[in-house]
Amino acid sequence: MKFLDLVAQYQSIRKEIDKAIKKVLDRGHFIGGKEVETFEKEVAKLSGAKYAVALNSGTDALFLSLKALGVGRGDEVITTPFTFIATAEVITALEAKPVFVDIQPDTFNIDPAKIEEKTTKKTKAILPVHLFGQIADMSEIMRIARKYKLKVVEDAAQAIGAEYKGKKAGSIGDVGCFSFYPTKNLGAYGDGGMLVTNNKKLTEEIRLLRTHGSSPKDKYLNLALGVNSRLDAIQAAILRVKLKHLKGWSKKRAQIATYYTNQLSELSKLTTPYVATNRNHIFHQYTIKVNKRVRNKLISYLKKQGVPTMIYYPLPLHLQPALKFLGYREGDLPASEKAAKTALSLPIYSELKRKEQDFVIKKIKEFYLAKYKI
Ligand SMILES: *Cc1c(COP(=O)(O)O)cnc(C)c1O
Repeated sequence: MKFLDLVAQYQSIRKEIDKAIKKVLDRGHFIGGKEVETFEKEVAKLSGAKYAVALNSGTDALFLSLKALGVGRGDEVITTPFTFIATAEVITALEAKPVFVDIQPDTFNIDPAKIEEKTTKKTKAILPVHLFGQIADMSEIMRIARKYKLKVVEDAAQAIGAEYKGKKAGSIGDVGCFSFYPTKNLGAYGDGGMLVTNNKKLTEEIRLLRTHGSSPKDKYLNLALGVNSRLDAIQAAILRVKLKHLKGWSKKRAQIATYYTNQLSELSKLTTPYVATNRNHIFHQYTIKVNKRVRNKLISYLKKQGVPTMIYYPLPLHLQPALKFLGYREGDLPASEKAAKTALSLPIYSELKRKEQDFVIKKIKEFYLAKYKI
């Protein structure tokens, strides 16, 4: 069994993918163009946003969103420490300062009740992450943002298609950012990313920054200093094929999650994922919580039995060596630190067979039975 099987997914849609790639090769247009523009429109539609800009990665989507919203030197951006490094890295890349707010232990997402106490005159934006495919508490986040006149950029890298009170991930804040890294729910065969927004001016600004600030009318007239962050036409063509399957795949993940939860909830020593009300969780990860003293033993037992697991994330960002200069210490953000010691992600993807799911469940039960006789 694999933790994630991208080959199995490819086999299931091989004909469509091969055809789409061939079409791009035959056409000979490899950067931008029709495939990319159509894909932008499709993702905007799926997200319920007016505009979309295809980019080279999710990291670039976050970076260019913050940049276009005016985040720069000396500004502060409030975010969660329980995420992938890219979330905070883009803030420091703009010479702004990440200000970490602790998470809700149940959803693993930023705790809105702790945001206001961290806002200062320098706070420019809030950058919530919809971790593991579940949208953060956006009503509260937007209320605080309005009160303090802050911008909101949603890191929806793990949450494409997820819903919150009927709204789609990425469409609630000023900008929403997606990643098409191969292991994401909508993954390319290489790097890719996109942002969505309802703000036309911002869209134009980011389109400009995406290609060196080159004027759309005159390539060698540079109106701003930007970057090179374009999506390849081949990736767009692949992603357009996959997009048609996304809903079905998300449904399959949700079914597997429900099955795992039904079978595992009888084990009092572990905690199954919490799905908050008014949310449609897309289960990018299925992450349980276990006692920190048994986690390593459980991981090695499962590994020996052929069940791969992953820890997302073993070290919260405020304790990362690269961010030491921010001055955080162990104990500053206890819920995130605890999550880093107790979280464990199990295999979940739409090609995972029922037999394999049963095997995962059986081996976890065996472990607890042997250890606690329960
Ligand atoms: C994957 C991911 C990113 C970065 O996306 P890339 O496409 O790899 O640059 C950012 N934030 C989160 C939460 C992610 O999971």
